[in-house]
Amino acid sequence: MKNIINILPENVANQIAAGEVVQRPASVLKELLENSIDAGSTEIHIEIKNAGKTSILVFDDGIGMTKEDAEICFNRHATSKISSAIDLFNIKSKGFRGEALASIAAIAHVQLISKQRNDQLGTQIDINGSQLVANKSVVAEDGTKILVKNLFFNIPARRKFLKSNNVENKHLMNEFFRVSLSHPEVNFIFLNEGKEIYNLKTSTFKKRIIELFGNKTNEKLVPINEETEILRLNGFIFKPEFSKKTRGQQYFFVNNRFIKSPYLNHAVKVAFEGLIDTNYNPSYFLNLHVDPKTIDINIHPTKTEIKFEDEHSIYAILRSSIKHSLGQYNISPILDFERDKNLDIPYDFDKKSSDGSMSIEVNSNYNPFKKNKTISLGNANHNFEKDGHTLQFASDSEDFTQLDFNDINSSANTNQIIQFNKKYIINKTKSSVVVINQERAHQRILYEKFLKLISSNKKNSQKLLYPSELEYNSQDIRILKSNYDQLKIFGIEFKFNENSIIISSLPSFLNEKDLKLHIDNLLYNLQNETPTNNFSESDLFSKILSKSMSIKNGKILDTKELEYIINSLFACKEASRCPFNKKTFVKINANDIENMFK
Ligand code: ADP
Ligand code: MG
Repeated sequence: MKNIINILPENVANQIAAGEVVQRPASVLKELLENSIDAGSTEIHIEIKNAGKTSILVFDDGIGMTKEDAEICFNRHATSKISSAIDLFNIKSKGFRGEALASIAAIAHVQLISKQRNDQLGTQIDINGSQLVANKSVVAEDGTKILVKNLFFNIPARRKFLKSNNVENKHLMNEFFRVSLSHPEVNFIFLNEGKEIYNLKTSTFKKRIIELFGNKTNEKLVPINEETEILRLNGFIFKPEFSKKTRGQQYFFVNNRFIKSPYLNHAVKVAFEGLIDTNYNPSYFLNLHVDPKTIDINIHPTKTEIKFEDEHSIYAILRSSIKHSLGQYNISPILDFERDKNLDIPYDFDKKSSDGSMSIEVNSNYNPFKKNKTISLGNANHNFEKDGHTLQFASDSEDFTQLDFNDINSSANTNQIIQFNKKYIINKTKSSVVVINQERAHQRILYEKFLKLISSNKKNSQKLLYPSELEYNSQDIRILKSNYDQLKIFGIEFKFNENSIIISSLPSFLNEKDLKLHIDNLLYNLQNETPTNNFSESDLFSKILSKSMSIKNGKILDTKELEYIINSLFACKEASRCPFNKKTFVKINANDIENMFK
């Protein structure tokens, strides 16, 4: 038999390794920043173009490289940080695998210029897709400058799958936050499209947090400090009322390295138990210092997951010190069941209105369940007349047989509507039970409303008596700015400051008390671009807005709200599906129930 095994050429091996190390521009930024930190830099300068897709430049004042080192640093397994396997268990540097530069050079156009303090000249190396293009001596400043251009130029499939600039910028900022938070002693200058976004001077951990997340952060922070034999812990948590439904700021640093740990995250969440609603997330910035010998960093190519020798003790220490701090700063309730309900509601706006009015509008005169109106879903007849309008129902709703709203009407007695599990609205009819998912239903209602709004072209905003100022970081402000026109169409008008927006008008459907929450959700959804298959930008925006502003699962609804959801849902054109094409309700008839007992 012929032998069939080849050893892959170095450049192919590098491209394969790059698949693990470099997922997107942010991965490149992370690796370059880590190298600059390892080189003992005191100032690191970053320039990003086109969300890193066009170029990423990192320039540091660290130790630099000799000519020989500059020549071999792009080889795989080239590292100055470890020399034997034993070193793997005593890692004090960020890097150690010696594969980042090799991986990056395999899939981009890279230029390196590096000079050590005592050398007259520096070295310039140009390397494109692992091919050396130039190697020369050049006049250079002390330190290392690496320019990474045209990422994935030779892997079109990977390049095509990069997300929008909004999303990629968000990832870049996240990496920047992680590195700059873990090294407050280092100055960072960050330019995006030529504009300086951050100029962070040497500072303390607390000041760095405030610089990155805005002045108002100061009043949200509660310090955490604990020293035990196996763990030194310090940092900050946000007071419970500043928890977010979206993930918010969650940072663990182990020996100055950002790590992800669902297990330790759980410890923090448990410490907040009783103080925040289960679907809210605490924010935290926690530094854990442990003996490097008690952790294994070499379990993931991007080095963001680590293994602790004594994970259980670390969990317990974390939980108890956070609980302790929450108590010490008088944040914990005396008794859980006596707690101030406001703690469950994360925003000040709540205090502005005491009338408990709903954030959704209700037309109390409108009742689509009026007698003599039979709505049928999914059968041949899916049009019906209501107040002179023809409403059309989804014809593809497979198994929805007759849903007779006379039934509902005959019991429209609201006692028949119940909320179950803070998520489902259950309504009994004569022959069946309808179970509605409240969040999806409200998304559908809002989505149709927003689409109508756009097509009507009517001005829909109401001026606020007192403009509302909301704090955001510069990344969020940029996103709001780039969606300014769309937001205006929906009636949200605002001006910008460096770290805040000032809202002057709101659409009539939006309650000021929930403004911050809605805008936070909107930002989150804009950045994560969930929806696909959109007809137009307006359609996409209506979807995102409906997702951001809908009543969420987990919210307790009062009778009026329950009624509103049912009434409005079945007045929608496509009541059976949410804008993201998921079922809004299911119908269980007597037969189905009979069958369950067979
Ligand atoms: P690792 O960081 O795991 O060692 P890299 O591929 O990231 O591997 O870098 C290879 C080597 O190149 C490093 O070990 C270091 O010696 C050198 N190097 C990379 N970036 C810099 C820099 N900014 N300043 C000085 N040396 C650097
Ligand atoms: Mg490295």
